[in-house]
Amino acid sequence: MGVQRTFSIIKPDATIRNLTGAVNAIFEKAGLRIVAQKRILMTQAQAETFYAVHSERPFFGELVEFMTSAPVVVQVLEGENAVLAHREVMGATNPSEAADGTVRKEFALSIGENSVHGSDSEENAALEMAQFFSGNEIVG
Ligand code: ATP
Ligand code: MG
Repeated sequence: MGVQRTFSIIKPDATIRNLTGAVNAIFEKAGLRIVAQKRILMTQAQAETFYAVHSERPFFGELVEFMTSAPVVVQVLEGENAVLAHREVMGATNPSEAADGTVRKEFALSIGENSVHGSDSEENAALEMAQFFSGNEIVG
């Protein structure tokens, strides 16, 4: 698989509880390097574009409202097999199903307020990082 990059978001429930550093510590301990990072307040348009794949789901409105409710930290993470490595350390979408030691087990409040996002494929990672970063903002 080799060295990959993936796109990550530390979500509003985590930033408002001042957990950015704690989440990053878990990522770094898992061998992921933060090669780009910025704190932003997502606009409704940005959130709708980002989650367009879920636009027909019943929770879409709630998801967009949540993601724009407080700052998020958007990131690019680099490491060996980074897409899968990041998904593993995030834990299951529903924190009640997340494994011990994962970010969602440690910090998530609910299936909606679940602290982190991670790309689910290398192809989606490239699309997602391009939505928030220009090439010269990513420094490995
Ligand atoms: P993410 O895409 O955020 O990394 P994921 O891939 O684990 O999470 P998805 O199925 O892609 O989960 O859902 C995207 C996000 O939508 C979830 O992280 C969660 O915040 C929200 N979500 C998913 N299912 C529900 C639900 N049943 N109720 C409320 N929110 C949900
Ligand atoms: Mg997803």
